[in-house]
Amino acid sequence: MNKAWHRRTAATLACLLAAGSGAGWLAHARLQQLQAAFETDARIVHRLLSQRMVQHDAILSTLALLQPAEPGLGGADAALPRLPSVYPQILEVLRRPADGTWPAAARAPLEAAEAVSRATGHAALARPDIAAGRYHLVLASAPTSYALHIDLHATVPHDEWPMDPVTSPVRVTLEHADQAFTVQPGRTPDRGWSYGFRKTLASPSQPLDVVAQRVVGWDELPWLAMLGWCAATAAAAVAMRMLWRHRVARRRAEELLRLGQVARLNTLGELAAGMAHELNQPLTALLSSTQAAQRLLGDEPPDLDTARTAMARAVEQARRASDVVGRLRRLVERPDLAGQAQPLQLATAVHDALHLLEPECRARAVVPEVHAEPGLPAVLAEPVALQQIVHNLVVNALQALEQVPATERRLELHLAMPTPGQIQLTVRDHGPGIPPEARERLFEPFFTTRAGGLGLGLPLCESLAQAMGASLQLAPGNGRGAAFVLLLPAATPTP
Ligand code: ADP
Repeated sequence: MNKAWHRRTAATLACLLAAGSGAGWLAHARLQQLQAAFETDARIVHRLLSQRMVQHDAILSTLALLQPAEPGLGGADAALPRLPSVYPQILEVLRRPADGTWPAAARAPLEAAEAVSRATGHAALARPDIAAGRYHLVLASAPTSYALHIDLHATVPHDEWPMDPVTSPVRVTLEHADQAFTVQPGRTPDRGWSYGFRKTLASPSQPLDVVAQRVVGWDELPWLAMLGWCAATAAAAVAMRMLWRHRVARRRAEELLRLGQVARLNTLGELAAGMAHELNQPLTALLSSTQAAQRLLGDEPPDLDTARTAMARAVEQARRASDVVGRLRRLVERPDLAGQAQPLQLATAVHDALHLLEPECRARAVVPEVHAEPGLPAVLAEPVALQQIVHNLVVNALQALEQVPATERRLELHLAMPTPGQIQLTVRDHGPGIPPEARERLFEPFFTTRAGGLGLGLPLCESLAQAMGASLQLAPGNGRGAAFVLLLPAATPTP
């Protein structure tokens, strides 16, 4: 029973493992897919924003190159008013004329940035208010220097943007010196799997970091597919369990058939009736022949010839009766068993027999207790006969236990080596026991106290045991219940 429990636990664990690992794999695959999509989007965002920033550098360089032309010839200054309408992110273009200064409002920071620009050779940031999305970009050139007032809100190229800026769960910011400008708010659940991306824009003049963050919440896992997988696994496990049960039941039925228990008892029942009928005839004839012989011998003078003939007929009838009995014995006994004995583990035979009787035990709420001395050697026995003996003894015990309340039902099987070279199996039940008058007759064929019993079980077991060099006895009756002792030769005699 314990083994069955272990098997059930192992099967349940295997099912849970299969369901869990499958669902885990689905979740993992989804997370990987979301992470890959996020990284692709983040790279595109970085490229698009970098292109915009590089554009600012290009505009400033162009302005520096053109410089204000001779009056009337156009030059950079002619383009200045038009720039904000072409590039919406440019709020204003400022200039420091050859002999002048920057507009008074921002003079100092623009001058500082111009100095940096002159030193580095590329444009420099001035008055960065990244949180508000504003900054100036100054390029020092001669004679006139130019500065762009940039609005980050308009830098996002919406037509090429890879995500919906309003609904996308990805948060994108532009960061510079502890300040952050939110390009798109995204959605950041409290718990989940977080992916991050940070890369500085590819413009040395505007070294802002593109920071993207994606938090995948629990609600984004593929729950439907995961539940579907678990349900499919459970269904498969149930189907397998049913298949297994079906197989066990079929095997059990086959085994019972092989044991021939049911068939044999039926046959023996019919046989007993047949035997009675067959024996009746020769015995009646025998009786009348001997009575006739008796009468003939009592005649004066005795009719010896006729009496001899009657006696010859009587002998013939007695032989016929003996033949009938012989046939019955041949059926019950298996004289060739000793030759078929082989080394086998008694514990295994006991386990097999109990496995076969599991439904019967369960129906009677009996849990057989098997106690085996450790290190028992193999026994010498014929496997089917041994199994049949154990089977019959356990069936008898179960039938006896039916007569006591369910709570008192105990069935013990003890395996021991009482003397070297002999292994003993004791089948003990806590049933009503065997009354003294019945003890003597248990092994007599056709002795039974059960309604519907044949009284052939124990004689059959005894003759099977004897045929393979073993013995079966009823243990001396003390205490409650009955105990039968099967003594088997060990396969390797102990020195
Ligand atoms: P059957 O079971 O057909 O009666 P058996 O030869 O197996 O034939 O048993 C003969 C009788 O021995 C039973 O009718 C019963 O009275 C008695 N008997 C056998 N085993 C037990 C037992 N464990 N407890 C009580 N009585 C038993």
